[in-house]
Amino acid sequence: MPERGEGTIVERPLRLDYDYTAGLAQSRFLKGIAQKKILGERCPKCGKVYVGSRGSCPTDGVATDGGEVDLPHKGTLTTFCVVNVPFAGQSVECPYASGYILLDGADIPLMGLIQEIPHDQVRMGLRVEAVWEDEVGPTLQSIKYWKPTGEPDADYETYKMHL
Ligand SMILES: [Zn+2]
Repeated sequence: MPERGEGTIVERPLRLDYDYTAGLAQSRFLKGIAQKKILGERCPKCGKVYVGSRGSCPTDGVATDGGEVDLPHKGTLTTFCVVNVPFAGQSVECPYASGYILLDGADIPLMGLIQEIPHDQVRMGLRVEAVWEDEVGPTLQSIKYWKPTGEPDADYETYKMHL
């Protein structure tokens, strides 16, 4: 038996093909993205606006059929990480920042890439806006990345409940 730290690394090609079935609520969201719209769905009971809704409110257990909300393409970066480790299939050069964007009027953040700002200047509360691809489709890749709006940072009190 090899001692701890010893061993052999074997590289093997691996491939996994799969189809993603979005379901009704995610399909509504993705069809919106294909029209450069970010659509949220409101819970009729608590009033929370879910973006990328799964069709129901996990708190109340009811359908998010309290109204469709056409959200602005602008929000607050609530939290983020700086990626320093390269990995297979990576499309952005390290280091880069990725984080959660709470759109104005939404209660659930979207994940996105933060660009047009040095990674060491990215911070919680940064105000950001979507930069769309020229050609959009029913995929979140239609949003190329998020860039700073230039507005003053959001006050922590305005997003602390959404971390
Ligand atoms: Zn609810």
